[in-house]
Amino acid sequence: MTAPGTGDDVLDAHSTAVPLADGRELIYFDDGPGHDRSAPDQRVLPARDMRSEVRYDPISGDWVTMAAHRQSRTHLPGRDECPLCPSAPGRHGEIPASGYHVVTFENRFPSLGGPPAGGRCEVVCFTDDHGSSFSHLPERRLETLARAWTHRTRKLAELPGVEYVFVFENRGDEIGATLQHPHGQIYAYPFVPARVARALDMARSYRAERGGCLFCAVVAAESAAERVVARTDRFVAFVPEAARWPYEVHIYPHRHATGLPDLQPDERAELMVLYRDVLRRFDHLFDAPAPYVAHLQQAPAGPDAELAHLSVRIFTPRRAENKLKYLAASESGAGAFINDVLPETAARHLRRAGRA
Ligand SMILES: [Zn+2]
Repeated sequence: MTAPGTGDDVLDAHSTAVPLADGRELIYFDDGPGHDRSAPDQRVLPARDMRSEVRYDPISGDWVTMAAHRQSRTHLPGRDECPLCPSAPGRHGEIPASGYHVVTFENRFPSLGGPPAGGRCEVVCFTDDHGSSFSHLPERRLETLARAWTHRTRKLAELPGVEYVFVFENRGDEIGATLQHPHGQIYAYPFVPARVARALDMARSYRAERGGCLFCAVVAAESAAERVVARTDRFVAFVPEAARWPYEVHIYPHRHATGLPDLQPDERAELMVLYRDVLRRFDHLFDAPAPYVAHLQQAPAGPDAELAHLSVRIFTPRRAENKLKYLAASESGAGAFINDVLPETAARHLRRAGRA
């Protein structure tokens, strides 16, 4: 046993690592003891195509990953062919067990990984119920998922060449999900992505000029503003003053924590419940649950870790019942977002959605 909060507490508790047929690693994270996860992968799988390549654009400073082999990946399969549903006699998916709580495994069609690109892509499944969603997970499962995310954040950051671990989860073909079974992914990039690098630069400048943490200062200001959506003792969820998306919520701990491994288990549990609360509000904004992207901002693996401040960021591109926000000329050509919904209005709608 090791001290909780270091991340080591999550390594051994009710988790089992097994190999898949093509050599990838899959890890079961269980809600509790007493689950047999020894079922072997009975498929015969070809070796994975790992021909990704990372290229640097000297003009924009962006890293771009070339992953042409992903064109052939599974795209919106029928429910009978869902690769993320548990396996059953005569029907073998990615997860060998006949039921599961949380599993993580390397993506069969990875954007990253292999000798030229470096890095790694993992899939995270948090329910074996094909028709469920994150917003329906019980608290016990949220804690298991937080354990899995914390474990993978730490372990992937230790891989050679990995500079940033990006945990995300989304829903809806509107935002590009190619599998309907609820799931998230983790990209372990061999570089610090542009948006993250820019935020760290802003934090470094702030510290040099004014001292302290830029994010802590923003959290303090937003906590007192009219854009707060929900709060708990130790976390606050708000629509940022300069939100880029029609409905966009950031969740921050009040105290300076650089990532999930920096949180105590009870803090992680509190964060996950607030996260679910925000997603439930997104479910109630419109007639049908909104498509969304949710991701974690955490410390990079290398230098500058102490500049970072953990946040969960959630947005939907839906701006009205039947209208989506597209990345049009200003956004895609100039990188300048134009938001049709005032953040103060979005916050009011999201507060109201919590009473639905
Ligand atoms: Zn499924």
